[in-house]
Amino acid sequence: MFDPKAYRLDEEQAGLITKARELAQANFAGRAAKWDTEATFPLENYKDLHKAGLLGISIPKANGGSGAGYQTYSLAAAEIGRYCGATALTWNMHVCSTLWSGPLADDLDMDDQMRAEQHRRRAIHYKRIVEDGAIYSQPFSEGGAAAAGGVAFGTEARPVKGGWIVNGKKIFASLSGFADYYGVLCTEVAEGEKASRRNTLYLAISAKSEGVSVVGDWDPLGMRGTVSRTLIFKDVFVPEDAALMPRGVYFQAAMRWPHMFLTLSPTYVGLAQASYDFTVKYLRGEIPGMPPVKRRMYPTKQIAVAQMQIKLEQLKSTWFQAVTEACANPSKEQVLRAYAAQYTAMEGANELAALAIRTCGGQAMLKTLPLERIYRDSRCGALMLPWTAELCLDRIGREALYEAGEKDE
Ligand SMILES: Cc1cc2nc3c(=O)[nH]c(=O)nc-3n(C[C@H](O)[C@H](O)[C@H](O)COP(=O)(O)OP(=O)(O)OC[C@H]3O[C@@H](n4cnc5c(N)ncnc54)[C@H](O)[C@@H]3O)c2cc1C
Repeated sequence: MFDPKAYRLDEEQAGLITKARELAQANFAGRAAKWDTEATFPLENYKDLHKAGLLGISIPKANGGSGAGYQTYSLAAAEIGRYCGATALTWNMHVCSTLWSGPLADDLDMDDQMRAEQHRRRAIHYKRIVEDGAIYSQPFSEGGAAAAGGVAFGTEARPVKGGWIVNGKKIFASLSGFADYYGVLCTEVAEGEKASRRNTLYLAISAKSEGVSVVGDWDPLGMRGTVSRTLIFKDVFVPEDAALMPRGVYFQAAMRWPHMFLTLSPTYVGLAQASYDFTVKYLRGEIPGMPPVKRRMYPTKQIAVAQMQIKLEQLKSTWFQAVTEACANPSKEQVLRAYAAQYTAMEGANELAALAIRTCGGQAMLKTLPLERIYRDSRCGALMLPWTAELCLDRIGREALYEAGEKDE
């Protein structure tokens, strides 16, 4: 999708991205229909990801991982999304547990003692992933305004000797029942204190802890393999070493490293590419198991493919720039571009899938082919908090017109 020479990637980056693509093409593409039909989690794919070393893609090399930074991870995730949306989206939740606590946290302010403690703790989590293939998830959403960044998380952690007691509920918790650790955002609230976003904790809670349960059904329109059910935490004791970030650091990250919320988009860039790939193959008569459909000679088909190619290039260019420049303390222009990239990827992926269906026609939409699944999966991108398509529009408009703290008379 992103030719290393054209996009100026180095050899190491190209190697990791190629590994992700080859694995997804060879193993994940053929299995994608099964997870979608059954709405079951792609556990088999996770065994492959572990074997290939890709569960630890963003874990620092010193901890046995591949040391991939933000851009490399994003490009590898797009390649996986091209072949299986649900695997790419859930892999994102897993990898971000390491990307945020790893290279991203290294960009943030901590005193020496805090940093040393953070490195000691994250090494425990990284070892589980690299050696045992442990899977991490990121259940943040609660159904209120917290996941959009408006208020403190309602899931609360009360400090006790040696850790916390956690109580709360998370909705749409991808990997429910399959992750070994749930990377929960919650608010640390001591007796008599008021909840504050500044006191957000990021805790990896073992799925086996007493008081953790998974409830509710899972039968959605798309991204069915993510198994995003509801998690309940009832008086769960969580030890201190579960903290993926020290006190105050998640809040600092959300303020100073906003591209952390763009990490759901690579999956959808992959889906956008998949719609285009399918259309070209279909019109060229190259879809395996289908008789050639002789339509490519019609000017309407050629124009539709040209429109798709232009849309895809626009989407990829905006997004590539945003993931390439992601850093701590970005400029206002970079933040606006990140929102624009998220909006373009999330809405664009579904627009491309819709165009692909219209262009290829009825036979292309049968459940025996991947296009209708891509269409359904891509519909989910614009809903992902905290940067839903609506919230991106809202923020771009406001932040372009007002400087921080500026008010009307
Ligand atoms: C397949 C799938 C997998 C998911 N996996 C995870 C996961 O692993 N972890 C996780 O934490 N979440 C996950 N989510 C949840 C997702 O990020 C959202 O939290 C969820 O879709 C929100 O649903 P809601 O109806 O409660 O949205 P609401 O919060 O009710 O929002 C509805 C719409 O209103 C708009 N809106 C919300 N707040 C504001 C505001 N302040 N101002 C203006 N407009 C606003 C938004 O555009 C939003 O689309 C997943 C969702 C899906 C579909």
